[in-house]
Amino acid sequence: MEKTVQLYEGKAKKVFATENEELLIVSYKDDATAFNGLKKGTIVGKGAINNRMSNLLMQMLEKKGVPTHFVEELNDRETVVKRVSIVPLEVIIRNISAGSFAKRYGVPEGIVFDAPTIEFSYKNDDLGDPLINSYHALALKLATPEEIETIKTYAFKVNEELRKFWTECGVTLVDFKLEFGRLSDGTIVLADEISPDTCRLWDSATGEKLDKDRFRRDMGGVEDAYAEIMRRLLENV
Ligand code: UDP
Repeated sequence: MEKTVQLYEGKAKKVFATENEELLIVSYKDDATAFNGLKKGTIVGKGAINNRMSNLLMQMLEKKGVPTHFVEELNDRETVVKRVSIVPLEVIIRNISAGSFAKRYGVPEGIVFDAPTIEFSYKNDDLGDPLINSYHALALKLATPEEIETIKTYAFKVNEELRKFWTECGVTLVDFKLEFGRLSDGTIVLADEISPDTCRLWDSATGEKLDKDRFRRDMGGVEDAYAEIMRRLLENV
């Protein structure tokens, strides 16, 4: 499979067309951004880690009945994926309070919820990805009622499976963001990535942050945290 033209360059990935209409190649970068692109930097080795991690987790989720865009890993940074049109919603699942949830509701980080929560943001950089509910998503025609139901079902299923897996690795899955896409026949599949860029992952024993919050909050040890979370994954996959 060969790249043809570059279709898009995002904050963390480039996307290329291939000779097959239905397939794309994504190439993961070491570039990191936070706060809607206001903070920029590099996390050395991140591209390769996110590529591998996302692919392994998506393959695991496929086996558990969640369809994904994953097709084939080409090399340490590049993966063939199915072409989708992205549903412009960021789907966030939370098990424990952190980040914008803690800020918005004025609660400390680390409160363990009785049940996971789901929320949607409208994927729109100019507006700063505003929080919306499913009625707003329907009003804005971002998805159909059936698609929203499917997305919710898959998102909670992903949470159950990832939570189980990370627990075995001695890691607590605090929260994460998913994106879904439509194949040409309209089928909803999990797309984008699942990585320390898009998940909060805390060491279960020490509470140490093993994710992008180390970059967002200038905590140092960013590369080491990404390497450590990858090591835990590879030991248990
Ligand atoms: N997240 C993401 N991309 C975004 C916003 C959030 O991947 O544009 C992830 C983030 O890494 C975290 C979860 O979604 O695991 C919840 O993030 P939150 O809403 O708390 O926002 P943040 O504090 O990251 O701004």
